[in-house]
Amino acid sequence: MAMIKVQKGTKDILPNEMPIWHFMEKKAEEVFTAYGAKEIRTPIFEATELFARGVGDTTDIVNKEMYTFEKSDRSLTLRPENTAGVVRSFIENGMHRLSAPVKLWYKGPMFRYERPQAGRQRQFHQVGVEVFGIKQATADAEVILMAVDYLKALGLNDLTVELNSLGCPKCREEFKQRLKDVIRPYLPQLCEDCQTRFEKNPLRLLDCKSPECQEIYSKPEIQAVIQGDFICEECSSHFEELKSYLDVLGIKYERNKLLVRGLDYYNRTVFEIKSNNLGSQNAVCGGGRYDSLVKNLGGEDTPAIGFAMGMERLASLLGEKQEERLTAYIVSNNTLEAVKLTQELRQKGISCEFDLTNKKFVKQLEKASKVSKYAVILGEDEISKGEVTVKNLDTSEQTTVKREELKLS
Ligand code: ATP
Ligand code: MG
Repeated sequence: MAMIKVQKGTKDILPNEMPIWHFMEKKAEEVFTAYGAKEIRTPIFEATELFARGVGDTTDIVNKEMYTFEKSDRSLTLRPENTAGVVRSFIENGMHRLSAPVKLWYKGPMFRYERPQAGRQRQFHQVGVEVFGIKQATADAEVILMAVDYLKALGLNDLTVELNSLGCPKCREEFKQRLKDVIRPYLPQLCEDCQTRFEKNPLRLLDCKSPECQEIYSKPEIQAVIQGDFICEECSSHFEELKSYLDVLGIKYERNKLLVRGLDYYNRTVFEIKSNNLGSQNAVCGGGRYDSLVKNLGGEDTPAIGFAMGMERLASLLGEKQEERLTAYIVSNNTLEAVKLTQELRQKGISCEFDLTNKKFVKQLEKASKVSKYAVILGEDEISKGEVTVKNLDTSEQTTVKREELKLS
């Protein structure tokens, strides 16, 4: 019979890779909890409408990348990102009544129908944070700090924070107009995607990966518009305030005026964190402020800012971590006593196994040295005295202790 294989763009996370994933998850909980954030888990699928409205129907995600299906006449979609789901839950559960800031973090799988390549899968995982209720730049600084701190806790240092301000809908409108005016003469030469973006979402023109389009956008008259300062006084002082917090905190950043981010709902602060050790898929973190989203999805007007990180990309930077070993392996020719002792240790929270096939003593000892930190030896002599002999398999040190006093870590 033909073998059924894992789907294109998806991967098993195998037991030997788990230590890295446990490490990333544990650090997320530690770091985000230290900032007062609480974990939230929302469903993997939501109404398609949520993403159309919450991510934006001019985005690649909504136009090309969604896994959408019908059930009982409802259009459902596997979540391509988790901000929309968290915002839905925030509104539905009346979280605007909680005292601000409401800080939430999440981890879990996301789904996008993209061309699989290194660092890009169809099912991938994100860990992310959303902070609701604060419009001041202190929240922007705090969120960026959470991202940087998390990456530091993972031991990742060779990273660059890129920062930009997209202004507010008012000042951005004028910028979009100026951008369109200066790009219009080149319209027929742009790629198909950019021709659509030109009308629907002109900011996204700057994000185009096609070298031909980039060459056009690097023309002096277009660069003059891009590099010029377009944001209004209020947006500008918000941005200056954020930068002064980051300076005080010692967080280095680079201004990138081409950083526009894919989603429709961002305003003011947007940021990305890039690794200097990944290939072309080098963004490990993307985030920004989305002050109008909660209201657009039917909630109270609530400012918010957040980020998401790609866990597969983080994992590939972390390399390999030693496989987790058992704490103890029971070595004994008395299977009944071995079963009892194994259970005693497991009850104490010590990970433990014994030989299910009653192999020779030496074979059991060999196995112990492969899979565990300690061999707990239970010969007839030990059994009669109510003792066990513990052998540290790294140092070969051996001690004998009373069975009920056995402690291992
Ligand atoms: P990219 O420019 O790499 O397509 P994006 O702007 O689509 O990223 P976001 O929606 O901001 O990505 O998601 C945040 C992070 O999630 C990215 O920085 C990346 O690390 C990760 N990510 C996004 N899409 C994928 C994917 N298809 N496979 C693996 N990781 C991904
Ligand atoms: Mg993308």
